[in-house]
Parts: sequence; C-alpha cells; structure tokens
Amino acid sequence: MKTTALQAIARTLYVVAGMSMVLSCQNMPESNVAIAASPAAPKEATATTPAINESNPAPATAPITKPIPVDAASVLAKKEVPILCYHQIRDWRPTDSKTAQNYIVPVENFRNQIKALADSGYHTILPDQLYAYLTTGAALPSKPIMLTFDDTDLDQYTVALPEMNKYGFKGVFFVMTVSIGRPNYMTKAQIKDLADKGHSIGSHTWDHHNVKQYQGQDWVTQIEKPSKTLETITGKPINYFAYPFGLWNPQAIPHLKEKGMIAAFQLAGKRDPQDPLHTIRRIIVPGAWKPNTLNKVIRESF
Ligand SMILES: [Zn+2]
Repeated sequence: MKTTALQAIARTLYVVAGMSMVLSCQNMPESNVAIAASPAAPKEATATTPAINESNPAPATAPITKPIPVDAASVLAKKEVPILCYHQIRDWRPTDSKTAQNYIVPVENFRNQIKALADSGYHTILPDQLYAYLTTGAALPSKPIMLTFDDTDLDQYTVALPEMNKYGFKGVFFVMTVSIGRPNYMTKAQIKDLADKGHSIGSHTWDHHNVKQYQGQDWVTQIEKPSKTLETITGKPINYFAYPFGLWNPQAIPHLKEKGMIAAFQLAGKRDPQDPLHTIRRIIVPGAWKPNTLNKVIRESF
C-alpha cells in the first residue's frame, strides 16, 4: 500500500517522540483516559461525613508508615477531596498534538490556575493528611485540595514549583524512577530538595508499564525497587502510588499493599467499593483550561 505524505509525517513524529521520551502518560490513546469525571458520575453519600473543619487548620500530620485498619464504607462516605493531576508545565509547541495538549499546561495557564486556587481559598494537603482524614476522620484545612504531578518532568521543578511557592502550596510528585537524571526529567538532587522542603514524593513505577499486566518479578521491578530508590534519595518512606495511565484492577491492590503502598491514586474512574484507599480519584487538568473551567470542574467532580 502506498504511504501518504501525512502518514509519513505522522510516523516520523511518532518515532521522534518515542526516541525523546520514555513511555509516559501522554503516550496513551485519548480514548483510554478519563480527562475529568463526568458531572453525572455517581457520587457517594456524604450525609454521615464529619464536616471538614472550616475554622482551624489541620495540625501537622505525623508521617504515616503503617496501614490503619478501616472499613471501605466509612472511607466512601467521606466527602472526596479534589485532587488535580498535572504532567508537563510548558508552552505548547507546533509539534504537540491535540491529545498531547491535554497533558501539557502552558505556563501562563498554570500560573493563573494556581493563583485562582489560592484566591478561592484552597489549601493544599499532602497524602498523609488525606490518609489520616479518610481513615481516622482527622481534620483538614478549609477548602482542601491536592496537587499531584506525574512522570518526573523537569518543568514541574523549574516552572510549577516557583508558582506554588508564591502561595505556600505543597505538591505530590509521583516519580517514575527510570527517568531520574535523564534530559528534561528531574535529578536525584531535585527530588531530594522537594522532599526536604515538605513536598511529598510517591512512586509511579520504574518505567510506566500498565499495572494490570504485571506478573511475578514485575512487582519487584516496578514497585519494590523504585520504592527503595526513592527512599534512598529522600530518606523518607514511600507509601503512596499513582497508577500509570490511571489504570488498575482489583488483583493489583494486594500486591501494592504487600509492597508498602497504603494508598494509591488512579484518574477519574469510579472507586473500588472494596478498596477505595487504593483507587483514590484525581482529574487531569487539560492545558487549555482557564481558571473558571477548573473551578467549575473541581466543584462538579468531587
Ligand atoms: Zn504517568
């Protein structure tokens, strides 16, 4: 079959992209990722939820290293905390596809989004605070929100962090360890600096393979060893995990627990009724969203 010029260009772009980056979230087909929860998505009951403390900021939460026994129903009954998921924070290039633009937030848009969150009174929280809230009902600050960053992209450190610092915001960085120190990815020193400055470091596997396909030794390669690497870098326990592509299945959860993950983060799918702590929901913030859109989707999705 004769190859059209368009196909040739597409193939070239694909090859270039493949050479320049390791497999990461933006490589997945658009149809497989839920960008944002549908407003019509079922919401769990909140009637019995203890109110989020509106007046007092939550006390600093001691690091949690062991799972706290809790029943799924009580976790599901609590009001969800909005969690945003970012990848690259940089201006779009002509070569960025429409799909890629969903994973790349232009600098000005990011700056405006973060400012709008601060102006709206949001307070960032970290996984230990969320975990304590979900398992023990520990208080959270008013208008809690979590900012998460996947895939180890360098601009999360050089561009996103200074914007967050303006408002005292803390982030959660889910690192895929294969990329540490590669061009355009964070270095060990930068990851340690984030941990030292009170941000949270979590695992996003070794090289971003789909958790649903793991067998045998994969659990060591993709989960156990990356945790050890990150613990060596940060000097802190690694207890939180983000699924590559947001993809998970119930069979994966016991393996994650066995490797020390006390909670895990997906994207906008429905939570597992048996294991809501290992299927915590997040929404990807597409690059085109203006603050008004972000604020609206936050209210409708959580
Ligand atoms: Zn990813």
